[in-house]
Amino acid sequence: MKVLKGIGVSSGYAVGRAKIIKDAEIDINSCAYTTAQEELAKFQDAVSAYTKETRKLIESLNESAGKENADILNGHLVMVNDPFMLSQINENINSGKTAQQAVDAVCCGFYDMFAAVDDDMMKQRASDILDIRNSLMEILSGVRSESIEDMPRGTILIAKDFTPSMTSRINRDNVFAIIAEVGSVTSHSAILARAIDMPAVLSVKAATENIQDGALIAVDGSKGEIIFEPDEATAEKYEKLRESYFAEKASLSEYFGKETVTKSGVKKAVYANIGKPEDIDSVIHNGGEGVGLFRTEFLFMDRDSMPTENEQFEAYSTVAKSMAGKEVIIRTLDIGGDKAVPYLDIPKEDNPFLGYRAIRYCLDNKELFKTQLKALLRAAYFGDIKIMLPLITDTSEIKAAKSLISECEKELEARGAQFKKNVPVGVMIETPAAVLIADDLAKESAFFSIGTNDLTGYVMAVDRGNGKVLNLYSVQKKAVLRAIEMTIKSARKAGIPVGMCGEAAADAELIPLLVKWGLDEFSVTPNAVLATRKAICECE
Ligand code: PEP
Ligand code: MG
Repeated sequence: MKVLKGIGVSSGYAVGRAKIIKDAEIDINSCAYTTAQEELAKFQDAVSAYTKETRKLIESLNESAGKENADILNGHLVMVNDPFMLSQINENINSGKTAQQAVDAVCCGFYDMFAAVDDDMMKQRASDILDIRNSLMEILSGVRSESIEDMPRGTILIAKDFTPSMTSRINRDNVFAIIAEVGSVTSHSAILARAIDMPAVLSVKAATENIQDGALIAVDGSKGEIIFEPDEATAEKYEKLRESYFAEKASLSEYFGKETVTKSGVKKAVYANIGKPEDIDSVIHNGGEGVGLFRTEFLFMDRDSMPTENEQFEAYSTVAKSMAGKEVIIRTLDIGGDKAVPYLDIPKEDNPFLGYRAIRYCLDNKELFKTQLKALLRAAYFGDIKIMLPLITDTSEIKAAKSLISECEKELEARGAQFKKNVPVGVMIETPAAVLIADDLAKESAFFSIGTNDLTGYVMAVDRGNGKVLNLYSVQKKAVLRAIEMTIKSARKAGIPVGMCGEAAADAELIPLLVKWGLDEFSVTPNAVLATRKAICECE
């Protein structure tokens, strides 16, 4: 059995017959030039037809994949009406090109420009432009590519690329998986595949040439593996994996909207971790009861300057409003360590994880910190926001942060701004120092949240990036477990709530212990919310 490898971007399993989707063969020179007026009219009609078709797809995507994902196609509608692109097409037509030639020239020009930039977002733009170009060319020429809608049950679709408009046409009952030659975890095809729960493997070299139409193949969407002509036992294994995958999904869906309560009736909460306001849709979709960690550093990354107070206010208040009164814990800037923000000019250090990072950097850069704190206090007016401080090692750090918050309150008051006073301030327990003085920290904190990702590294003195010592990087090590237990005990003794926002909060093996020790809130990646709730509800 031959195996092809690609990037697994949407989990799940499938066995089925391959169907290669080829682009429609369109001769862009098949139509003769009429008059500029007529070519312009043809182009405008094509844009109207494209808009109508796309609106229909958006409607169906809204239902199958949620609004956030349907917005990908809304983006296409914005692009196709971009004034600069329209003016370029008009210019091309006025200089003697047919509507088809003009669309092809302008779209391909944009495509080349975006594709040349070594950046995922630009590559995504390139793919979006190509999608728009192909759709317009099909409408203008009347030559349609093969209809994706009418595939027989058990089809595995293979194409050079799955554009958003192709993915949104897939009939989920009949198509079992998709495979493409290009794409990555962040491409729109991957996002949509995950949204409709379709196993997908992207970046499979020459897939449309190496796989024959009608061949039996098995797909593992997590590992990114494609097995050709699997023998009977393998095909059966994949069929079973597919069934149990769906059974597991169905059993989890029971936990949507359900309270998180242990068998003995103790109420817990499952929250979700986010990095950007856009992630909120996924929190709501997965039944998150709140946000346990908003990693605000993502608002500062991938840009050339710091986000302004207003930009930050928009981001934080959007999340607070979307969560409609549910708790939203927002962590102040946690940069340094492995999170670089080039424009902040943090000097290179020998030991960045032990250096100038997180709260240490913020307390030393007061204006930057106060800009964020003011945005948080203003946003808190619109929901149940709590502020969380990262990498705390000493009580003085909380006191210093609180004193800056008081200064911010005064400045906002003087400005006549709308904001909330006395926003609760909690801390992350992610250093051995914090564990050891948890009783003191509790006196200054509204809550604790255990950051096991860092805590494990610091307790075990292990650099996660060093393969030679990786066996020591485990939350199951006795020292790490003891640190977690000590933290929970300190919080309970002080009567403050304690949560966990490191990856270990979703660890099925650990959850019974966390429940036994009395952890109140588990904050996990949005798609682990239901499995975590199930594991908690099954605890005594
Ligand atoms: C942690 O350290 O567990 C944590 C949640 O923070 P981050 O992973 O962002 O460092
Ligand atoms: Mg951390």
